Amino acid sequence: MEKPNLVGASLQEIASALAGMGQPPYRARQISRGVYRRLARSWDEFTDLGKALRSSLADRFVIANPPLRQVFVSSDGTRRYLFEVAPGQRVEAVHIPEEGRDTVCVSTQAGCAVGCLFCVTGRLPMLRNLTAGEIVGQVLELQSDRRAASRRLNIVLMGMGEPLNNYDNVMAAIRLMTSPEGMSLSPRRITLSTSGVVPGIRRLAAESVLPNLAISLNATTDEVRDRLIPINRRWSIADLLQACRSFPLPRRRRITFEYVLIGGVNDSDEDARRLVRLLAGLEKKVNLIPLNADPWIALRPPEENRVLAFQKILLERHVTASIRRPRGGDVSAACGMLAGREEPCGDPAGPAPRKLSQ
Ligand code: SAH
Ligand code: SF4
Repeated sequence: MEKPNLVGASLQEIASALAGMGQPPYRARQISRGVYRRLARSWDEFTDLGKALRSSLADRFVIANPPLRQVFVSSDGTRRYLFEVAPGQRVEAVHIPEEGRDTVCVSTQAGCAVGCLFCVTGRLPMLRNLTAGEIVGQVLELQSDRRAASRRLNIVLMGMGEPLNNYDNVMAAIRLMTSPEGMSLSPRRITLSTSGVVPGIRRLAAESVLPNLAISLNATTDEVRDRLIPINRRWSIADLLQACRSFPLPRRRRITFEYVLIGGVNDSDEDARRLVRLLAGLEKKVNLIPLNADPWIALRPPEENRVLAFQKILLERHVTASIRRPRGGDVSAACGMLAGREEPCGDPAGPAPRKLSQ
């Protein structure tokens, strides 16, 4: 039988496993800190535990991040990490170094069932939900790799998959990221992005640990959103914004609305004005994301003047709006390009990306 992996285990789970070995609870705290803070990955590194205990732990448990297959480094310093969580099941995480901080973007599912028209991940079959350990393990692996740069860490759940379609494992991962015996990060440093799974947003609203919420709105009419994001047929823009309005925002926090600008589809002045009206009264900021082109996507990016005109309309109406410039595009690490590809990039002139296989 495979040994259980402690990457993904909570303090309570570690404590009850240790109780079975006749060990006191404080040992669980030592082990949890070793796993999530010191990033120890072999039992030899637990020199505070004593040799006999180390060896009996080694007989029972492993401490392993998801298996890393390859790292692609962009000319702008962004790194794309390709993991193979099981044979043929690939997921990706991205490390984005920025001024004074590191942002890591992690996946929550292998594939995605939502199937958005503009997203390469959405072209893949949905294979499975990642476990809490596989989600937090991506962050820990990126941290080990970049250990020298111990700067401010932000985690965004914006990689492959729809986080709210894997609710329990995603929340368990967030608890490991924020708990004092886990990574001990502030929930303010964690952002969950959703395509609009309304029951998931309502469930999240009742949690005691709240990450920042980002909503991939991407359209201002149900007609267009139905086409772009198929789950809009189930939960309309009005339903989605209603759930946002009743979301209990902690003080001084805002909801981020992501808006992928697609040439000729949702980038008109009228769209910008409608967006302002839709979001009226919400504590919000808007993140405009010019579509990242990819051979798998039959949509075109907006003209640069449209991006600026769209932003201007929002700003003139006092809506905070920034433009997210692509990072890591040359290695297929930018938003919407994650597909577990083994080639550095999805260059239109290059080979077609391979589908994930079971
Ligand atoms: N499934 C979640 C989180 C992952 S997608 C969600 O949809 O929110 C992260 C962000 O990338 C979303 O805001 C999505 O709208 C955006 N995105 C997807 N494909 C894109 C593309 N081709 N170009 C730019 N942004 C894209
Ligand atoms: Fe899934 Fe998000 Fe991509 Fe839509 S944009 S297919 S929800 S990962």
